[in-house]
Amino acid sequence: MLVFFIILSYEFKEETQYMDYRVLLYYNYTHIEDPETFAKTHLAFCKSLGLKGRILVANEGINGTVSGTIEATDAYMEHMLADERFADTMFKIDESEGHAFRKMFVRPREELVALHLEDDIDPHQITGKYLEPKEFKEALLDENTVVIDARNDYEFDLGHFRGAVRPDIRNFRELPQWIQDNKEQFMDKRVVTYCTGGIRCEKFSGWLVKEGFKDVAQLHGGIAMYGKDPEVRGELWDGKMYVFDDRISVEINHVDKQVIGKDWFDGTPCERYINCANPECNRQILCSEENEHKHLGACSYDCAASGNNRYVIKHNLSAEERSARLAAIAPSVTA
Ligand SMILES: [Zn+2]
Repeated sequence: MLVFFIILSYEFKEETQYMDYRVLLYYNYTHIEDPETFAKTHLAFCKSLGLKGRILVANEGINGTVSGTIEATDAYMEHMLADERFADTMFKIDESEGHAFRKMFVRPREELVALHLEDDIDPHQITGKYLEPKEFKEALLDENTVVIDARNDYEFDLGHFRGAVRPDIRNFRELPQWIQDNKEQFMDKRVVTYCTGGIRCEKFSGWLVKEGFKDVAQLHGGIAMYGKDPEVRGELWDGKMYVFDDRISVEINHVDKQVIGKDWFDGTPCERYINCANPECNRQILCSEENEHKHLGACSYDCAASGNNRYVIKHNLSAEERSARLAAIAPSVTA
């Protein structure tokens, strides 16, 4: 219910409002000796600065998104860059109206990105060539280049680069298998990959090189950096970029933005995400305000009718009102 409320209230705020918070997105493949101990110390440090967010640490490095005041995020970056393990970290900085998270987590993990490869890839040993935003934009326009989106399907559906390949997968970790099954489509081409901040491509592009693809490259700094680049300004990106925090999505294209998201129910242009109001489902769908009210905030009739429907509780619907709305959306029964 809380998530849902924040999404709604966020949309009504004006973009021009003064921003005194920031969201930092970053990763670094570097060696962390004891991730468990590091996580505890780092959590205490982040809390002392008043940061909120989610950071994963592993023997292979660190990956995080944190939000905080300008002073707090400055202090955090300064602290990180002074540590030789993290000295070359590239921070992607977004301005924000407030925190993008409600809590602060630092979690030790086996790997930073769940690609589940049989033979793990060390991006320091093997990875695709880095393309800066301008070079990546040229690659998008080159017909001998295949650009592959290395994210989950719901991320692609909200926004992606014009002409990019959408692998037929639900989750990023299915990507290697999908590539193997469709290899002949790409083998003779130059293959370029992209993801949100670049971390997923570090390993995925390395894996492509290992698989025998001859010309493999990746967007350096990910979509996040591409949108901020003063020269390309997000051109050739359509829709919005999905982000894993309370903001849900951010703008990338500052040149000729086009909406590509479609309403879950009627297919009309839509960039408004809601979580299905059935707590057991929680599926993220794009949905207009009108359809949200019509479908009781749910993705399906069954979810709308569920006993724990958060929309019904939040809007304090009477039994009559609930029945009437359910009747209006009930699947028609044909004899
Ligand atoms: Zn549902």
